[in-house]
Amino acid sequence: MRTAPFSNPCAACGEYRPDAFAIYFDGHMKLYRCKTCGFVSDFPGPGYFPGSMTYEDCFSLDFLKHSEFMHPEREGVFEDILGRIVKLKATGKVLDVGCGDGHLLYLAMRRGFDGYGVEPNEILCRYASAKARAQVVQGDYAKEMFPESYFDVITLVHILEHFWNPDAILEAAWHQLRAGGILVIEVPSIHSPHFLAYEWTGIRRFVKGHIARGHAGYFSPRPLLTLTERIGFRKVSLVTGRCRCKYSGAISRFAGTIDPLLNALNIGAILYIGIKKDRPLD
Ligand SMILES: [Zn+2]
Repeated sequence: MRTAPFSNPCAACGEYRPDAFAIYFDGHMKLYRCKTCGFVSDFPGPGYFPGSMTYEDCFSLDFLKHSEFMHPEREGVFEDILGRIVKLKATGKVLDVGCGDGHLLYLAMRRGFDGYGVEPNEILCRYASAKARAQVVQGDYAKEMFPESYFDVITLVHILEHFWNPDAILEAAWHQLRAGGILVIEVPSIHSPHFLAYEWTGIRRFVKGHIARGHAGYFSPRPLLTLTERIGFRKVSLVTGRCRCKYSGAISRFAGTIDPLLNALNIGAILYIGIKKDRPLD
């Protein structure tokens, strides 16, 4: 009988009682859902640490044969993010954690921001430095990497779901942001059509390809808000279903008509924008 609390609490809300976790998926991987906040993960919680993803062999500069950046189709999404940032902060130092090939930084610097990046992959790090002319540090993101209160904006675009300790990542961002600084998070949501189909039917093949070793946690709006609030951020906005900015022309106009519905139902990738708030010093 399991009575002792887990030593690895839910990374989103800190829950640690064994009976507060339910099995969410039991297949090629075992995922648990925190009943307190809704965060789905294999670790922390009752699962095991899957080990961090190794990025070294994952990326090359092969994309240069076709385009300047690895995912040119993401440019509309990046511009959407930057458009929301400049409404709050028109200039200053922006840090893109896990900046990849520097696409977001390139666009941010074109708008007048000072760009900084962190990227573990050496090849991408060098490319981002040269292409975006940003200051990119190679390595795993950590609190000690930059001085306290150094940045005006920190962006985590499809990053947080890769870490087994998203609370530590946000803790680092909190320290490196100046008072009133802006945190931007984009993460895939477990409220996606694939996962919802699985939840409604119990048929595992709906999500088989979507549960991957590279993701340590699966957010939805509630655990993301719980986590950001707990670390010390105040929500400015949270939107889902931003299909319009992913396409152009008629498809974009059609997507724009279903975006409000997806947003109302919290379906689709999450874009969170928050402001660093004061908290008691630890
Ligand atoms: Zn939780």
